[in-house]
Amino acid sequence: MTTRCIIIGASHAAAQLSASLRLEGWLGEILVIGDEPSLPYHRPPLSKAFLAGDKAKDDLLIRPQAFYDKNSVVFKTALVTSIDKKDQSVTLDSGESLHYDKLAICTGARVRKICFPGSDLAGIHYLRNVADVERIQQATKKSKRVVIIGGGYIGLETASALNKMGMDVTVLEMASRILHRVTAPQLSSFYMRVHSEEGVKIHTNSVMTEMRGNAQVEEVLCEDGSVYPADIVIIGIGVIPNIELAQQADIATNDGILIDHFCRTNAPNIYAAGDCTNFFNNHYERRMRLESVPNASEQAKVVASSICGGNREYVSLPWFWSDQYDLKLQIAGLNAGYDQVLIRGDSDNGRSFAAFYLKDRKLIAADCVNRPQEFMLSKKVISQSVEVDPERLVNESIGVKELLLS
Ligand SMILES: Cc1cc2nc3c(=O)[nH]c(=O)nc-3n(C[C@H](O)[C@H](O)[C@H](O)COP(=O)(O)OP(=O)(O)OC[C@H]3O[C@@H](n4cnc5c(N)ncnc54)[C@H](O)[C@@H]3O)c2cc1C
Repeated sequence: MTTRCIIIGASHAAAQLSASLRLEGWLGEILVIGDEPSLPYHRPPLSKAFLAGDKAKDDLLIRPQAFYDKNSVVFKTALVTSIDKKDQSVTLDSGESLHYDKLAICTGARVRKICFPGSDLAGIHYLRNVADVERIQQATKKSKRVVIIGGGYIGLETASALNKMGMDVTVLEMASRILHRVTAPQLSSFYMRVHSEEGVKIHTNSVMTEMRGNAQVEEVLCEDGSVYPADIVIIGIGVIPNIELAQQADIATNDGILIDHFCRTNAPNIYAAGDCTNFFNNHYERRMRLESVPNASEQAKVVASSICGGNREYVSLPWFWSDQYDLKLQIAGLNAGYDQVLIRGDSDNGRSFAAFYLKDRKLIAADCVNRPQEFMLSKKVISQSVEVDPERLVNESIGVKELLLS
């Protein structure tokens, strides 16, 4: 009898895991069960090139059907409704029950929705999957004014893409600055300036309280009494990990499915990878949950190794990216707890600089805007956990490659 590995969720983690399982020598069945009617596709372009119409749907696929055929990876479109740890089986929404020898939970995350007066009006959108973007694109054909709720990366990328399409874009952020959870004030000011130069209006300290309209949304009201006309509203206020399946099966969770360095849950033969996991990061010495493609892919490689009896551990440094206009932001590490920010370059007037976050003179994170060399260097320096010389870091007359030489 052949053994079977079931992967729940068909996205970034699943695409990598199915490929890595074969590389690690898994000879059994690989069955990927996902509730989206598509092969795994790249999610980042949804708020960038795909939304702006610069990328076609077929170009989003992470791997073509031929790859999965060659590697005997089978996909099934269904919602997994429960996991039975004792029987080692999963149940689908059709009622079908399927046995597993190894199970990987790659259920990712879903958008955080909010309930407020008018939230059921037509024209209000969220953005997580291809179908969401197609609905937004359809709506933009007969509309002009878009209000985006949330000045995080997704909201700002969406603003940039819709602005490029000729829409009249307004972003409302409830905090005193955009990107307040993830960057230093210098980065927030920089992105405020660029969006303003590009023609996007951003209002901070703007707490949305109500949407009004006659069946279709027409305006957004804020706590301070301000009113913004809108044909479309897009809400980007974060995501929630999909952990209910794990919880129902009594698998340990706490803001994500708890996994160890080998991406094992506390249940035998059950592993997890991607946005749905919560793990201990050795470098930052705390548990965390990350929402990024590199995290999903790296964890998937570790799951494949663990399933096949290997001893690969998840120790990667977190990194992210965001594309807005002509700006490629690359983020190395996490800046929580920084005590100093140093800017290399001109963030007040230019469009290329790096912000280095230091703690006790050690580099813990870097936001690099159109600065790939500084990004690569930062990844290396953060991993090494060495003290750096602040004056050298900001001195542009010293080349990036020479920065660490004393
Ligand atoms: C608009 C947008 C832009 C982004 N931009 C970036 C970026 O620039 N850089 C970056 O690193 N990251 C970015 N991200 C985040 C990145 O896409 C996620 O980190 C990544 O998709 C996580 O992959 P995953 O496989 O863990 O989960 P997901 O991509 O969330 O996929 C999980 C899949 O599982 C399915 N599923 C859930 N429950 C079940 C069930 N019970 N049964 C069957 N199927 C189920 C879901 O429907 C989904 O298809 C972006 C995300 C979005 C939405």
